[in-house]
Amino acid sequence: MPDTLKTAAPRFPAGIEALKRDLNGKVVLPHDAAYEGARKIWNGMVDKRPAVIVRCLHTSDVVRAVHFARDSGLPLAVRGGGHNIAGNATCDGGIVIDLSQMNTVSVNPGLRRAHVGGGALLADVDAATQAHGLAVPMGINSTTGIGGLTLGGGFGWLSRKHGLTVDNLESAEVVTAAGEVVRASAAEHPDLFWAIRGGGGNFGIVTRFEFRLHPVGPQVLSGLIVYPAWEGKSVLRKYREFMAQAPDELLVWAVLRQAPPLPFLPQEAHGKDVVVLAFCYAGDPAKGEKLVAPLRKFGPLVGAHVGVQPYTAWQQAFDPLLGAGARNYWKSHFFSGLPDELIDTVLKHAGNLPSPQCEIFFGALGGATLRPAVDSMAYAQRNAEYAMNVHGRWDDPADDAKGIRWARDVFDATAPYASGGVYVNFMTADESERVKSAYGPNYDRLVRVKRQYDPQNLFRLNQNISPN
Ligand SMILES: Cc1cc2nc3c(=O)[nH]c(=O)nc-3n(C[C@H](O)[C@H](O)[C@H](O)COP(=O)(O)OP(=O)(O)OC[C@H]3O[C@@H](n4cnc5c(N)ncnc54)[C@H](O)[C@@H]3O)c2cc1C
Repeated sequence: MPDTLKTAAPRFPAGIEALKRDLNGKVVLPHDAAYEGARKIWNGMVDKRPAVIVRCLHTSDVVRAVHFARDSGLPLAVRGGGHNIAGNATCDGGIVIDLSQMNTVSVNPGLRRAHVGGGALLADVDAATQAHGLAVPMGINSTTGIGGLTLGGGFGWLSRKHGLTVDNLESAEVVTAAGEVVRASAAEHPDLFWAIRGGGGNFGIVTRFEFRLHPVGPQVLSGLIVYPAWEGKSVLRKYREFMAQAPDELLVWAVLRQAPPLPFLPQEAHGKDVVVLAFCYAGDPAKGEKLVAPLRKFGPLVGAHVGVQPYTAWQQAFDPLLGAGARNYWKSHFFSGLPDELIDTVLKHAGNLPSPQCEIFFGALGGATLRPAVDSMAYAQRNAEYAMNVHGRWDDPADDAKGIRWARDVFDATAPYASGGVYVNFMTADESERVKSAYGPNYDRLVRVKRQYDPQNLFRLNQNISPN
């Protein structure tokens, strides 16, 4: 038989049968029915085919999988929620340790603590904590993974009041590159605890997070206030002045995009360029009403949808616009202020969106996010009043070049006003030269901790801190 007609037997890394036997979870291989679904991540632009996906159920599975990956010599990716824009949750021809089944959340309302599995989604955490009227600050899209979000920082609607997600981390259970299970906290493995609070997945696999919780809601005043793009300059200047006076309980993001077909917007506005002010007040709603009233008076409105709703509903409000599978390319900066020239530059580019799903947002930080000392943990961006994300998003691969060029143009044009730092969780695959900027003065200590806990750089499919 000619060689070309022979069916090659699939080749798997040595020891795969023993791995299957030992696991509580499942091994998914390319010929398995579950493989296509299991290999996909949020960003449809990332299309990789791992050799082995190890779906772990318990910490012992993660330990077993770490040994297997190390012995195989193949690349190792770790998957939390699979949301990272850079596609670090997967790889070609390597091993994926998939934590998505490790998503249990248990809450101790008396102590105000939550223990959260390393593969839980934000929706899992909110559901369990809000059952007790408690919350930990997290991101604005409920399908994001707590793993990547926390390890890179994590900010959202509660962050001015309660800090970053990572500011609320009490301890973590970590599987190290050596396959040891350790507890990292202020008292145990303190260097590791310092490093995982912002240093991403570089130092080990977190199988369980312990968070401090705060009373929130369960009903919050929140909503969207929409202005036409031609009022953008005035609206963004007023937004800047408003945020400078806002109490920590109030957080407002400004989003420049085309109006989605939301029922509270007049039909003729759908698809038109708008500036959206999205806000959440993490306090008594009656008090919030008075505080947010000025936000509705920045100019003639396209529409507004404001009210008291469950915090869990507000946490899911943006999910329909951020579904998995679209092609996404991001560029981001931090800013310590929003000077007029920056506002003008952003508005110019927002008038030239390459697809209806693209947007530029300013996420206000400030408040409690600025209070910890820069060297108190790996996360170093303690002078950032705003994060800007240029979110390029479209469906057709033919639009890639146009969309990527637009995002890079906005990034370049706004760079003169930026703080110079960057948020690791918003970095794309082609930005590894920015890793040092993410950590600033903390970078050298991170290299030392990396040498101690992962000298062979087993955990390198991330925004990598090289031990060398
Ligand atoms: C639609 C959308 C909205 C977002 N909104 C926000 C927001 O409001 N605020 C914000 O701060 N960020 C936001 N982000 C960014 C988000 O924080 C990052 O994408 C984050 O990396 C996602 O984590 P993940 O676990 O889902 O991703 P993954 O791609 O699974 O993981 C990201 C990285 O973390 C590592 N990792 C994940 N879990 C673990 C673990 N348990 N142990 C060790 N390493 C792990 C992975 O190996 C990978 O390197 C958003 C992202 C998206 C796509």
